[in-house]
Amino acid sequence: VEKNIMPDKPLEMNKIDLLIDKAIKIEPKAKKVSFEKNQALNYEKLILALGSEPALIPIKGVDKKGVWLIKKDFEYLKALRKAALKAKNIVIIGGGFIGVELAEELSAIKGLSVSLAEKLDHCLTATFDPEFAEEVENKLKKKGVQIQTRARMEEILGEKEVKAVKLNNQEIPADLVILAIGAKPNSNPAQKAGLKLGECQGVEVNEYLETSEKDILAIGDCARTQCLLTKEFTPAMLASTACHEARIAVANLNKKENLIKNTGTLAVFSTSVDGLVMATTGLGEQAAKEKGFEIVIEESGAPNHHPGSLPDTQTIKTRLIFDQTSDRLLGGQLSGPESVSEMINILALAIQKKATAHDLGTLQVATHPLLTAAPTVYPLISATQGVLERIR
Ligand SMILES: Cc1cc2nc3c(=O)[nH]c(=O)nc-3n(C[C@H](O)[C@H](O)[C@H](O)COP(=O)(O)OP(=O)(O)OC[C@H]3O[C@@H](n4cnc5c(N)ncnc54)[C@H](O)[C@@H]3O)c2cc1C
Repeated sequence: VEKNIMPDKPLEMNKIDLLIDKAIKIEPKAKKVSFEKNQALNYEKLILALGSEPALIPIKGVDKKGVWLIKKDFEYLKALRKAALKAKNIVIIGGGFIGVELAEELSAIKGLSVSLAEKLDHCLTATFDPEFAEEVENKLKKKGVQIQTRARMEEILGEKEVKAVKLNNQEIPADLVILAIGAKPNSNPAQKAGLKLGECQGVEVNEYLETSEKDILAIGDCARTQCLLTKEFTPAMLASTACHEARIAVANLNKKENLIKNTGTLAVFSTSVDGLVMATTGLGEQAAKEKGFEIVIEESGAPNHHPGSLPDTQTIKTRLIFDQTSDRLLGGQLSGPESVSEMINILALAIQKKATAHDLGTLQVATHPLLTAAPTVYPLISATQGVLERIR
Protein backbone atom coordinates (compact mmCIF):
# COMPACT_ATOMS: atom_id res chain seq x y z
CA VAL A 1 0.00 0.00 0.00
CA GLU A 2 2.88 2.37 0.90
CA LYS A 3 4.09 2.43 -2.70
CA ASN A 4 0.89 4.25 -3.73
CA ILE A 5 1.61 7.33 -1.60
CA MET A 6 2.07 10.35 -3.85
CA PRO A 7 5.81 11.06 -4.01
CA ASP A 8 7.37 14.46 -3.17
CA LYS A 9 9.85 14.10 -6.04
CA PRO A 10 7.80 16.03 -8.67
CA LEU A 11 7.59 18.98 -6.26
CA GLU A 12 11.32 18.87 -5.59
CA MET A 13 12.03 18.62 -9.32
CA ASN A 14 10.00 21.79 -9.82
CA LYS A 15 12.18 23.54 -7.19
CA ILE A 16 9.38 23.81 -4.67
CA ASP A 17 10.62 24.04 -1.07
CA LEU A 18 8.58 21.61 0.94
CA LEU A 19 7.97 22.32 4.62
CA ILE A 20 6.18 19.51 6.45
CA ASP A 21 4.64 21.23 9.45
CA LYS A 22 1.35 22.48 10.82
CA ALA A 23 0.49 26.13 10.27
CA ILE A 24 -0.81 27.37 13.62
CA LYS A 25 -1.28 31.09 13.09
CA ILE A 26 -1.96 33.29 10.10
CA GLU A 27 -1.42 37.02 10.55
CA PRO A 28 -2.78 38.87 7.48
CA LYS A 29 -1.61 42.33 8.58
CA ALA A 30 1.97 41.17 9.23
CA LYS A 31 1.73 38.80 6.21
CA LYS A 32 3.14 36.04 8.33
CA VAL A 33 2.41 32.34 8.98
CA SER A 34 3.67 30.63 12.15
CA PHE A 35 4.28 26.89 12.35
CA GLU A 36 4.34 24.30 15.09
CA LYS A 37 8.03 23.31 14.70
CA ASN A 38 9.64 25.60 12.13
CA GLN A 39 10.33 29.31 11.96
CA ALA A 40 7.53 31.61 10.81
CA LEU A 41 7.43 32.56 7.12
CA ASN A 42 6.52 35.88 5.56
CA TYR A 43 4.58 35.94 2.33
CA GLU A 44 3.59 38.27 -0.48
CA LYS A 45 0.71 36.00 -1.46
CA LEU A 46 -0.65 33.13 0.59
CA ILE A 47 -2.77 30.32 -0.87
CA LEU A 48 -4.89 28.36 1.58
CA ALA A 49 -5.56 24.78 0.51
CA LEU A 50 -6.57 23.45 3.92
CA GLY A 51 -8.93 20.75 2.68
CA SER A 52 -11.90 19.37 4.59
CA GLU A 53 -12.79 17.16 7.52
CA PRO A 54 -15.31 14.31 7.53
CA ALA A 55 -18.68 15.45 8.88
CA LEU A 56 -20.04 13.93 12.10
CA ILE A 57 -23.62 12.90 12.66
CA PRO A 58 -25.11 14.32 15.87
CA ILE A 59 -26.54 11.09 17.28
CA LYS A 60 -26.11 9.27 20.58
CA GLY A 61 -23.22 6.82 20.66
CA VAL A 62 -21.17 8.37 17.88
CA ASP A 63 -18.13 8.51 20.21
CA LYS A 64 -18.11 4.75 20.92
CA LYS A 65 -15.10 2.58 20.10
CA GLY A 66 -15.65 1.02 16.69
CA VAL A 67 -17.08 4.14 15.02
CA TRP A 68 -14.78 5.26 12.22
CA LEU A 69 -14.64 8.14 9.76
CA ILE A 70 -13.00 8.27 6.35
CA LYS A 71 -10.14 10.62 7.16
CA LYS A 72 -7.39 11.47 4.69
CA ASP A 73 -4.86 10.06 7.12
CA PHE A 74 -2.78 7.08 6.04
CA GLU A 75 -2.07 5.59 9.49
CA TYR A 76 -5.73 5.98 10.52
CA LEU A 77 -6.93 4.27 7.33
CA LYS A 78 -4.43 1.44 7.80
CA ALA A 79 -5.87 0.88 11.30
CA LEU A 80 -9.42 0.98 9.88
CA ARG A 81 -8.48 -1.64 7.30
CA LYS A 82 -7.09 -3.90 10.00
CA ALA A 83 -10.24 -3.49 12.10
CA ALA A 84 -12.47 -4.17 9.06
CA LEU A 85 -10.62 -7.41 8.32
CA LYS A 86 -11.42 -8.63 11.86
CA ALA A 87 -15.06 -7.45 11.87
CA LYS A 88 -18.15 -9.61 11.39
CA ASN A 89 -20.80 -6.92 10.82
CA ILE A 90 -20.09 -3.50 9.35
CA VAL A 91 -22.66 -0.75 9.00
CA ILE A 92 -21.81 2.15 6.69
CA ILE A 93 -23.86 5.28 7.29
CA GLY A 94 -24.22 7.41 4.17
CA GLY A 95 -24.90 6.20 0.63
CA GLY A 96 -22.91 8.82 -1.27
CA PHE A 97 -19.87 8.01 -3.44
CA ILE A 98 -17.65 7.16 -0.49
CA GLY A 99 -20.25 4.95 1.23
CA VAL A 100 -21.09 3.12 -2.00
CA GLU A 101 -17.45 2.54 -2.97
CA LEU A 102 -16.60 1.36 0.55
CA ALA A 103 -19.56 -1.03 0.57
CA GLU A 104 -18.38 -2.60 -2.66
CA GLU A 105 -14.78 -2.98 -1.44
CA LEU A 106 -15.85 -4.44 1.91
CA SER A 107 -18.32 -6.85 0.29
CA ALA A 108 -15.31 -8.72 -1.11
CA ILE A 109 -14.22 -9.76 2.42
CA LYS A 110 -15.39 -13.33 3.07
CA GLY A 111 -17.67 -13.85 6.08
CA LEU A 112 -18.31 -10.12 6.55
CA SER A 113 -21.85 -8.75 6.55
CA VAL A 114 -22.06 -5.23 5.10
CA SER A 115 -25.05 -2.92 5.54
CA LEU A 116 -25.37 0.50 3.93
CA ALA A 117 -27.80 3.01 5.44
CA GLU A 118 -28.95 6.04 3.43
CA LYS A 119 -31.49 8.58 4.70
CA LEU A 120 -32.85 9.49 1.25
CA ASP A 121 -34.88 7.32 -1.16
CA HIS A 122 -31.78 6.05 -2.95
CA CYS A 123 -28.01 5.96 -2.70
CA LEU A 124 -26.17 8.61 -4.78
CA THR A 125 -29.36 10.72 -4.93
CA ALA A 126 -27.42 13.99 -4.64
CA THR A 127 -25.85 13.34 -8.04
CA PHE A 128 -27.94 10.74 -9.95
CA ASP A 129 -31.60 10.41 -10.86
CA PRO A 130 -33.33 7.38 -9.28
CA GLU A 131 -33.13 5.04 -12.27
CA PHE A 132 -29.34 5.41 -12.37
CA ALA A 133 -29.04 5.11 -8.58
CA GLU A 134 -31.06 1.88 -8.76
CA GLU A 135 -28.50 0.37 -11.15
CA VAL A 136 -25.79 0.87 -8.53
CA GLU A 137 -28.01 -0.42 -5.73
CA ASN A 138 -28.72 -3.59 -7.74
CA LYS A 139 -25.00 -4.14 -8.25
CA LEU A 140 -24.35 -3.77 -4.51
CA LYS A 141 -27.25 -6.06 -3.60
CA LYS A 142 -25.84 -8.72 -5.92
CA LYS A 143 -22.58 -8.46 -4.00
CA GLY A 144 -24.48 -9.16 -0.77
CA VAL A 145 -24.65 -5.58 0.58
CA GLN A 146 -27.83 -4.96 2.57
CA ILE A 147 -29.13 -1.53 1.63
CA GLN A 148 -31.41 0.41 3.95
CA THR A 149 -32.82 3.51 2.27
CA ARG A 150 -35.01 6.14 3.99
CA ALA A 151 -32.95 5.18 7.04
CA ARG A 152 -33.68 7.27 10.11
CA MET A 153 -30.60 6.96 12.30
CA GLU A 154 -31.48 6.84 15.97
CA GLU A 155 -28.52 5.64 18.02
CA ILE A 156 -25.29 3.72 17.99
CA LEU A 157 -25.70 1.06 20.68
CA GLY A 158 -23.19 -0.71 22.94
CA GLU A 159 -21.36 -0.22 26.24
CA LYS A 160 -18.00 1.31 25.38
CA GLU A 161 -17.77 -0.51 22.07
CA VAL A 162 -20.28 -0.56 19.23
CA LYS A 163 -22.68 -3.52 19.32
CA ALA A 164 -25.49 -2.39 17.00
CA VAL A 165 -26.98 0.51 15.11
CA LYS A 166 -30.57 1.51 15.76
CA LEU A 167 -32.32 2.82 12.69
CA ASN A 168 -35.99 2.93 11.76
CA ASN A 169 -36.76 1.26 15.11
CA GLN A 170 -34.68 -1.71 14.09
CA GLU A 171 -31.39 -2.90 15.59
CA ILE A 172 -28.72 -3.90 13.10
CA PRO A 173 -25.78 -5.79 14.68
CA ALA A 174 -22.47 -3.99 14.15
CA ASP A 175 -18.97 -4.35 15.52
CA LEU A 176 -17.76 -1.58 13.22
CA VAL A 177 -19.60 1.53 12.00
CA ILE A 178 -18.25 3.82 9.30
CA LEU A 179 -19.64 7.31 8.95
CA ALA A 180 -19.55 8.52 5.34
CA ILE A 181 -22.04 11.35 5.49
CA GLY A 182 -20.00 14.07 3.77
CA ALA A 183 -17.31 16.58 4.60
CA LYS A 184 -17.04 20.09 5.96
CA PRO A 185 -14.47 22.69 4.91
CA ASN A 186 -11.44 22.98 7.18
CA SER A 187 -11.95 26.73 7.39
CA ASN A 188 -11.26 27.18 11.09
CA PRO A 189 -7.63 28.40 10.67
CA ALA A 190 -8.85 30.99 8.16
CA GLN A 191 -11.65 32.12 10.45
CA LYS A 192 -9.18 32.48 13.33
CA ALA A 193 -7.10 34.74 11.08
CA GLY A 194 -10.13 37.00 10.65
CA LEU A 195 -11.06 35.89 7.12
CA LYS A 196 -14.74 35.86 6.26
CA LEU A 197 -16.51 32.53 5.87
CA GLY A 198 -19.25 32.10 3.32
CA GLU A 199 -22.10 29.67 2.83
CA CYS A 200 -21.49 26.00 3.68
CA GLN A 201 -18.72 27.24 6.04
CA GLY A 202 -16.22 27.55 3.17
CA VAL A 203 -13.73 30.44 3.15
CA GLU A 204 -15.41 33.28 1.24
CA VAL A 205 -13.68 33.94 -2.10
CA ASN A 206 -14.37 36.15 -5.10
CA GLU A 207 -14.15 35.12 -8.75
CA TYR A 208 -10.33 35.37 -8.56
CA LEU A 209 -10.31 33.11 -5.49
CA GLU A 210 -9.21 36.02 -3.30
CA THR A 211 -10.47 35.92 0.27
CA SER A 212 -11.60 38.93 2.28
CA GLU A 213 -7.84 39.63 2.55
CA LYS A 214 -6.74 40.37 -1.03
CA ASP A 215 -3.31 38.73 -0.74
CA ILE A 216 -4.70 35.51 0.68
CA LEU A 217 -6.34 33.14 -1.77
CA ALA A 218 -8.30 29.99 -0.90
CA ILE A 219 -8.80 26.98 -3.14
CA GLY A 220 -10.16 23.45 -2.98
CA ASP A 221 -12.34 21.94 -0.26
CA CYS A 222 -11.70 24.76 2.24
CA ALA A 223 -13.05 27.45 -0.12
CA ARG A 224 -16.66 28.34 -0.81
CA THR A 225 -17.85 27.11 -4.21
CA GLN A 226 -20.56 28.55 -6.41
CA CYS A 227 -22.41 26.41 -8.95
CA LEU A 228 -21.60 27.35 -12.56
CA LEU A 229 -25.21 26.87 -13.66
CA THR A 230 -27.31 28.27 -10.82
CA LYS A 231 -24.76 30.60 -9.18
CA GLU A 232 -25.93 29.19 -5.87
CA PHE A 233 -23.39 28.11 -3.27
CA THR A 234 -22.74 24.41 -3.37
CA PRO A 235 -20.99 22.03 -0.99
CA ALA A 236 -19.28 20.21 -3.91
CA MET A 237 -15.81 19.03 -2.86
CA LEU A 238 -13.81 17.28 -5.52
CA ALA A 239 -10.14 16.87 -6.36
CA SER A 240 -10.92 17.97 -9.93
CA THR A 241 -12.49 21.20 -8.60
CA ALA A 242 -9.50 21.77 -6.31
CA CYS A 243 -7.09 21.40 -9.25
CA HIS A 244 -9.22 23.69 -11.45
CA GLU A 245 -9.12 26.38 -8.78
CA ALA A 246 -5.40 25.85 -8.17
CA ARG A 247 -4.66 26.43 -11.87
CA ILE A 248 -6.62 29.70 -11.85
CA ALA A 249 -5.02 30.93 -8.63
CA VAL A 250 -1.49 30.20 -9.87
CA ALA A 251 -2.10 31.67 -13.33
CA ASN A 252 -3.18 34.96 -11.71
CA LEU A 253 -0.46 35.14 -9.06
CA ASN A 254 1.91 37.56 -10.77
CA LYS A 255 -0.62 39.37 -12.92
CA LYS A 256 -2.17 42.79 -12.46
CA GLU A 257 -4.49 42.59 -15.48
CA ASN A 258 -6.15 40.00 -17.75
CA LEU A 259 -6.82 37.86 -14.72
CA ILE A 260 -8.56 34.54 -15.25
CA LYS A 261 -11.98 34.34 -13.62
CA ASN A 262 -13.46 31.34 -11.89
CA THR A 263 -16.90 31.31 -13.51
CA GLY A 264 -18.18 28.66 -11.13
CA THR A 265 -17.93 25.04 -10.17
CA LEU A 266 -19.23 22.30 -12.38
CA ALA A 267 -19.01 19.13 -10.36
CA VAL A 268 -18.19 16.16 -12.60
CA PHE A 269 -18.36 12.78 -10.88
CA SER A 270 -17.59 9.25 -11.93
CA THR A 271 -17.51 6.00 -10.03
CA SER A 272 -17.26 2.29 -10.70
CA VAL A 273 -19.20 -0.41 -8.87
CA ASP A 274 -18.59 -4.04 -9.78
CA GLY A 275 -17.71 -3.20 -13.38
CA LEU A 276 -20.54 -0.71 -13.87
CA VAL A 277 -19.23 2.80 -14.48
CA MET A 278 -21.50 5.71 -13.62
CA ALA A 279 -20.81 9.34 -14.45
CA THR A 280 -22.72 12.56 -13.98
CA THR A 281 -22.41 16.31 -14.32
CA GLY A 282 -24.60 19.40 -14.02
CA LEU A 283 -28.14 19.27 -12.76
CA GLY A 284 -30.21 16.13 -12.29
CA GLU A 285 -33.96 16.10 -12.92
CA GLN A 286 -35.04 17.00 -9.41
CA ALA A 287 -32.38 19.67 -8.89
CA ALA A 288 -33.20 21.29 -12.26
CA LYS A 289 -36.92 21.43 -11.38
CA GLU A 290 -36.18 22.77 -7.89
CA LYS A 291 -34.11 25.57 -9.43
CA GLY A 292 -37.11 26.56 -11.53
CA PHE A 293 -36.00 25.29 -14.95
CA GLU A 294 -38.61 23.95 -17.38
CA ILE A 295 -36.79 20.89 -18.64
CA VAL A 296 -36.79 18.35 -21.41
CA ILE A 297 -35.24 14.95 -20.72
CA GLU A 298 -33.81 12.83 -23.50
CA GLU A 299 -32.50 9.29 -23.18
CA SER A 300 -30.60 6.88 -25.37
CA GLY A 301 -29.03 3.45 -25.12
CA ALA A 302 -26.39 2.09 -27.46
CA PRO A 303 -23.84 -0.74 -27.47
CA ASN A 304 -20.25 0.40 -26.88
CA HIS A 305 -19.00 -1.66 -29.85
CA HIS A 306 -20.38 -2.10 -33.32
CA PRO A 307 -21.73 -4.55 -34.23
CA GLY A 308 -23.16 -5.13 -30.76
CA SER A 309 -22.52 -8.87 -31.11
CA LEU A 310 -18.77 -8.28 -30.51
CA PRO A 311 -17.43 -9.87 -27.30
CA ASP A 312 -17.71 -7.90 -24.02
CA THR A 313 -20.17 -5.40 -25.47
CA GLN A 314 -21.97 -3.31 -22.86
CA THR A 315 -24.79 -0.79 -23.18
CA ILE A 316 -24.09 2.90 -22.71
CA LYS A 317 -27.15 4.47 -21.10
CA THR A 318 -27.46 8.24 -21.51
CA ARG A 319 -29.83 10.74 -19.94
CA LEU A 320 -29.53 14.40 -20.92
CA ILE A 321 -31.43 17.28 -19.36
CA PHE A 322 -32.06 20.41 -21.44
CA ASP A 323 -33.59 23.76 -20.61
CA GLN A 324 -36.85 23.87 -22.59
CA THR A 325 -36.65 27.58 -23.40
CA SER A 326 -33.05 27.83 -24.59
CA ASP A 327 -32.38 24.13 -25.43
CA ARG A 328 -29.19 24.56 -23.40
CA LEU A 329 -27.71 21.42 -21.82
CA LEU A 330 -28.14 21.53 -18.04
CA GLY A 331 -26.97 18.07 -17.03
CA GLY A 332 -26.09 14.58 -18.14
CA GLN A 333 -25.82 11.12 -16.66
CA LEU A 334 -24.20 8.05 -18.17
CA SER A 335 -23.79 4.44 -17.15
CA GLY A 336 -22.01 1.57 -18.83
CA PRO A 337 -18.41 0.63 -19.63
CA GLU A 338 -15.23 2.49 -18.62
CA SER A 339 -15.47 4.88 -21.58
CA VAL A 340 -18.41 6.74 -19.96
CA SER A 341 -16.00 8.12 -17.35
CA GLU A 342 -14.36 10.13 -20.16
CA MET A 343 -17.54 10.78 -22.19
CA ILE A 344 -18.89 12.71 -19.21
CA ASN A 345 -16.10 15.23 -19.75
CA ILE A 346 -17.54 16.01 -23.20
CA LEU A 347 -20.83 16.85 -21.48
CA ALA A 348 -19.01 18.92 -18.86
CA LEU A 349 -17.31 20.95 -21.59
CA ALA A 350 -20.64 21.29 -23.39
CA ILE A 351 -22.24 22.74 -20.25
CA GLN A 352 -19.30 25.09 -19.66
CA LYS A 353 -19.56 26.33 -23.24
CA LYS A 354 -23.35 26.74 -22.94
CA ALA A 355 -23.93 24.17 -25.70
CA THR A 356 -27.49 23.53 -26.89
CA ALA A 357 -29.16 20.33 -28.15
CA HIS A 358 -28.28 21.51 -31.66
CA ASP A 359 -24.58 21.85 -30.77
CA LEU A 360 -24.51 18.34 -29.31
CA GLY A 361 -26.60 16.93 -32.16
CA THR A 362 -23.97 18.09 -34.64
CA LEU A 363 -20.99 16.93 -32.55
CA GLN A 364 -18.15 15.42 -34.59
CA VAL A 365 -16.74 12.33 -32.92
CA ALA A 366 -14.26 9.50 -33.41
CA THR A 367 -15.79 6.04 -33.69
CA HIS A 368 -14.29 2.58 -34.08
CA PRO A 369 -16.01 -0.84 -34.06
CA LEU A 370 -13.93 -2.17 -31.16
CA LEU A 371 -13.89 1.02 -29.13
CA THR A 372 -17.10 3.03 -29.45
CA ALA A 373 -20.78 2.99 -30.35
CA ALA A 374 -21.57 3.21 -34.05
CA PRO A 375 -21.54 6.72 -35.54
CA THR A 376 -25.23 6.27 -36.40
CA VAL A 377 -26.18 5.84 -32.73
CA TYR A 378 -23.41 7.70 -30.87
CA PRO A 379 -25.07 8.09 -27.44
CA LEU A 380 -24.51 11.81 -26.82
CA ILE A 381 -25.83 12.63 -30.29
CA SER A 382 -28.76 10.20 -30.19
CA ALA A 383 -29.92 11.70 -26.92
CA THR A 384 -30.50 15.08 -28.60
CA GLN A 385 -32.74 13.82 -31.41
CA GLY A 386 -36.03 14.26 -29.55
CA VAL A 387 -35.24 17.91 -28.78
CA LEU A 388 -34.12 18.57 -32.35
CA GLU A 389 -37.26 16.99 -33.81
CA ARG A 390 -39.38 19.18 -31.54
CA ILE A 391 -37.51 22.29 -32.76
CA ARG A 392 -37.96 21.24 -36.42
C1 LIG B 1 -12.52 8.58 0.31
C2 LIG B 1 -12.49 9.77 -0.63
C3 LIG B 1 -12.56 9.54 -1.99
C4 LIG B 1 -12.55 10.62 -2.88
N1 LIG B 1 -12.61 10.36 -4.22
C5 LIG B 1 -12.57 11.39 -5.09
C6 LIG B 1 -12.59 11.14 -6.50
O1 LIG B 1 -12.64 9.99 -6.95
N2 LIG B 1 -12.55 12.21 -7.34
C7 LIG B 1 -12.49 13.50 -6.87
O2 LIG B 1 -12.46 14.42 -7.68
N3 LIG B 1 -12.47 13.75 -5.54
C8 LIG B 1 -12.51 12.74 -4.64
N4 LIG B 1 -12.48 13.00 -3.30
C9 LIG B 1 -12.43 14.40 -2.83
C10 LIG B 1 -10.99 14.90 -2.87
O3 LIG B 1 -10.17 14.06 -2.09
C11 LIG B 1 -10.92 16.33 -2.34
O4 LIG B 1 -11.87 17.13 -2.97
C12 LIG B 1 -9.53 16.91 -2.59
O5 LIG B 1 -8.55 16.15 -1.92
C13 LIG B 1 -9.47 18.35 -2.13
O6 LIG B 1 -8.17 18.83 -2.27
P1 LIG B 1 -7.63 19.96 -1.27
O7 LIG B 1 -6.24 20.23 -1.70
O8 LIG B 1 -8.61 21.06 -1.20
O9 LIG B 1 -7.66 19.28 0.17
P2 LIG B 1 -6.87 17.98 0.74
O10 LIG B 1 -6.55 17.02 -0.37
O11 LIG B 1 -7.72 17.52 1.86
O12 LIG B 1 -5.53 18.60 1.27
C14 LIG B 1 -5.48 19.49 2.36
C15 LIG B 1 -4.13 19.32 3.04
O13 LIG B 1 -3.92 20.41 3.95
C16 LIG B 1 -3.31 19.89 5.13
N5 LIG B 1 -3.57 20.84 6.24
C17 LIG B 1 -4.75 21.12 6.83
N6 LIG B 1 -4.58 22.04 7.80
C18 LIG B 1 -3.28 22.37 7.81
C19 LIG B 1 -2.47 23.25 8.60
N7 LIG B 1 -2.98 23.99 9.58
N8 LIG B 1 -1.15 23.33 8.33
C20 LIG B 1 -0.59 22.60 7.33
N9 LIG B 1 -1.30 21.72 6.57
C21 LIG B 1 -2.61 21.61 6.81
C22 LIG B 1 -4.00 18.54 5.30
O14 LIG B 1 -3.24 17.71 6.14
C23 LIG B 1 -4.04 18.04 3.85
O15 LIG B 1 -2.86 17.37 3.50
C24 LIG B 1 -12.49 11.94 -2.38
C25 LIG B 1 -12.42 12.18 -1.00
C26 LIG B 1 -12.43 11.10 -0.13
C27 LIG B 1 -12.36 11.36 1.36
